[in-house]
Amino acid sequence: IMWWEGFNVKVAVIGTGYVGLVTGTCLAYSGHSVVCVDSSAEKIAILSSGGLPLWEQGLDELLNETIKLGRICFTTDMKSAVQSSDVLIVCVGTPWGPGGEADLDPLWSVVRQVALYCKQGPFLIIKSTVPVGTSDEIEQWLHTVQTKPSIEVIHNPEFLRQGAAVYDFFHPDRIVAGCRTIQARSVITELYKDIAAHVYFCDRRSSELIKYASNAFLAMKISFINMMADFSEHTGARIDVVAAGMGMDRRIGKSFLQAGIGYGGSCFPKDLQALLSMGHKWNCSLPLLESTVSINAQRPQHLVDKLLHALGTLKAKRIALLGLTFKPMTDDLREATSLAVSRLCLQHGADLHAYDPFVRDYPIAEVVLHRDMYEAIDSADAIVILTEWEQLHDLDWQLVSQKLRTRVVIDGRNMFDWDDMQHVADTCHITYISMGRPVIY
Ligand code: NAD
Repeated sequence: IMWWEGFNVKVAVIGTGYVGLVTGTCLAYSGHSVVCVDSSAEKIAILSSGGLPLWEQGLDELLNETIKLGRICFTTDMKSAVQSSDVLIVCVGTPWGPGGEADLDPLWSVVRQVALYCKQGPFLIIKSTVPVGTSDEIEQWLHTVQTKPSIEVIHNPEFLRQGAAVYDFFHPDRIVAGCRTIQARSVITELYKDIAAHVYFCDRRSSELIKYASNAFLAMKISFINMMADFSEHTGARIDVVAAGMGMDRRIGKSFLQAGIGYGGSCFPKDLQALLSMGHKWNCSLPLLESTVSINAQRPQHLVDKLLHALGTLKAKRIALLGLTFKPMTDDLREATSLAVSRLCLQHGADLHAYDPFVRDYPIAEVVLHRDMYEAIDSADAIVILTEWEQLHDLDWQLVSQKLRTRVVIDGRNMFDWDDMQHVADTCHITYISMGRPVIY
């Protein structure tokens, strides 16, 4: 492929979930010509009729704009998408397999179709998070089945944060690209030419591990601060004060030091399990990761213990869960901590009511969803905050205290300022319990 000034790269983005849809839309906005392919006819029908199957800040405006400019279209037809594109970007899911390893069936299904339909030798960019060695294996396999000019595989991991994915696409801290040849590097340079970020070229195996190691490191920071939060509860220190003091050290940094009920979501839990399972495969122990996972697994129980301690029993107690998604500004419930907390509370016989600004459908039927926050709180014995939604900052504490049957608030995300809550507790007679900070009566 020859690249020249102003050339629009013809891109097929395969898999239009959070990563694929954002990538496709943003690349189209950058001037490339994009076809988005997904095996889900339902998703493609929604997108083709101008709708969105998921929510991301700013995505609908950008998508409408690119549709108007005629730079993006949607299809389930892999053959035509592969045959009409110079660059294929694979963004299919790599979910948990039965033993914790990444399930690569969707990825290999795409690779087989690429081998079948591909006429010339395009570049196959793997954006999905894949175990170390996968890109090499795919390229070798393609070379054995292809007689035509060979496809080159590039690994280009994605680091976007759900909820800020569009912003992150245009302002990444870095772009990592595992490439084998100069031509592959020039593809990446052309694709991301409008983005003012350092492109870090490396070999594919390192690129694959950079993604897992980055997620594992962030998860480890969360588990570390949660471990210190538990220690603060024993010693009378305050974890938010501790974290702020630690974060002032640039070697440590202040991000991911928010103590609470632990991480969830579609990436950290599965990527840590996949990394541990890679460790088994390569016969290399990864003890820090094992601790990270086990500390995180204890967090929901720790929160429920606080609830039990405050109420004596959960049997027939009405609990208002505020926030259900794994973090604010997303509609994603995958591995959300609210699921584990809800199950534990139900085992204790609690009556669960919930409010989340984005959730209209919850996988646990016993949890009664309310559209209004105060309806969820009405007659509750305790409020449990599970997602730090901005909306919760506007809680009218006087009204909350009138609505509650027992005035217990458990802040699983430490979202409220401790000094402010002293005042709330005084004026509204609320017991405020958070993570790694003394209880305020
Ligand atoms: P997702 O589940 O939201 O989307 C995957 C999409 O692929 C779905 O729409 C599915 O229908 C489609 N698909 C599955 N098999 C297919 C096939 N054979 N052909 C065509 N389409 C197919 O997943 P996601 O959250 O976008 O994640 C995709 C990858 O990116 C994963 O490897 C994930 O680990 C990684 N990642 C995700 C995030 C994130 O925040 N979600 C961040 C960085 C990296």
